[in-house]
Amino acid sequence: MPPPHPGLYIHIPFCRSKCPYCDFYSIVSKSFIQRWLDALKKEIIYYKGQFTQFDSLYLGGGTPSLLDPMQIETILETLFANFDFAKNCETTIEANPCDLNHDKIKSLKGLGFNRISVGAQSFEDKLLTFLGRKHTVKDIKKSIHILRSFGYKNISLDLIYGFKEQTLNTWKKTLEQALSFEPEHLSCYQLTIANGTPFKRKKDKGLLKILSQDDEASFFLFTSEFLEGHGYKHYEISSFARNNRFFSRHNQKYWQHIPYLGLGPGAHSFNNKSRWWNISSVKQYCDLLDDGQLPVEISEDLTDDQLRLEHIFLGLRTRAGIEINLISHDQQNRAILSGLEKKGFIKLEKGRLTPTRKGFLVADQLPLMF
Ligand code: SF4
Repeated sequence: MPPPHPGLYIHIPFCRSKCPYCDFYSIVSKSFIQRWLDALKKEIIYYKGQFTQFDSLYLGGGTPSLLDPMQIETILETLFANFDFAKNCETTIEANPCDLNHDKIKSLKGLGFNRISVGAQSFEDKLLTFLGRKHTVKDIKKSIHILRSFGYKNISLDLIYGFKEQTLNTWKKTLEQALSFEPEHLSCYQLTIANGTPFKRKKDKGLLKILSQDDEASFFLFTSEFLEGHGYKHYEISSFARNNRFFSRHNQKYWQHIPYLGLGPGAHSFNNKSRWWNISSVKQYCDLLDDGQLPVEISEDLTDDQLRLEHIFLGLRTRAGIEINLISHDQQNRAILSGLEKKGFIKLEKGRLTPTRKGFLVADQLPLMF
């Protein structure tokens, strides 16, 4: 079998404002955009010829939809001039519902994006305000209608759940509203309080209440049962798709340990032997590239054992799981596997170890047991 195609990620590090829960790297100043575009061009040219044909391109952020179509076109032109892309390349752009007006969607369609990931987050206006989002439920609905009117057949909606202010019933209503648009893909993320965010500071001051672990588990299990009950495949901890065709090809590269190149501030890359990531500062990113240097902050070569452990760790986040022979079959491991299977956390069949729905709840702990 030929090796799988690598994926290409471009990090667009600009947002209109910072959401208080978010720890993705971005800045709110737009004054850097032109300088960053010039630097990105240099980074693209540097990697020419270093990766084989890409079959996924993902513009993430930050807020890629904040760029104007000419700026996006400039990026694509440089990419197409320097890299090879498969004909059926999955081409995704993350978009904020406030940006998705008729003209923007027309431009994105013209530029060849065949998958749009809409940062809906909630179908409750009061929760959108709580999350610091600048859009309303009305904006989400309008943007999906326009996307459909332009023939978009691969729409993913991002949703966040697990607020103290939410009940299973109000979360169910959000899911029902999302499903009324029949999205091909849903990413349902549990609210996490990341270090360095305004939410973390609020929590530390006792001003933000979070769910207990038991309640978090109830929300997770409910989400999985509800969406699978409506025909979606729960194929990764946070990811659901109407069928295999709509599994995110790009994100699967990360989980299946397939090479990917990440460009832009803070972007990560992996080439089967090593991984590296860029500095998380637009200014330093531009300065380094202007000086003819790569903006890599850290690069590490991975040993065979590290690669095996990463493969296990990432694979166990997915329903496809891992090949059982990645885990040594000593007596201790056999006993652990058998115990996990009896408790309903994993299944062992056809040479694979796959997590169950309940197993997803402890997916991060499973690899540590072996
Ligand atoms: S959640 Fe999205 S829009 Fe909000 S700050 Fe993070 S990257 Fe920007």
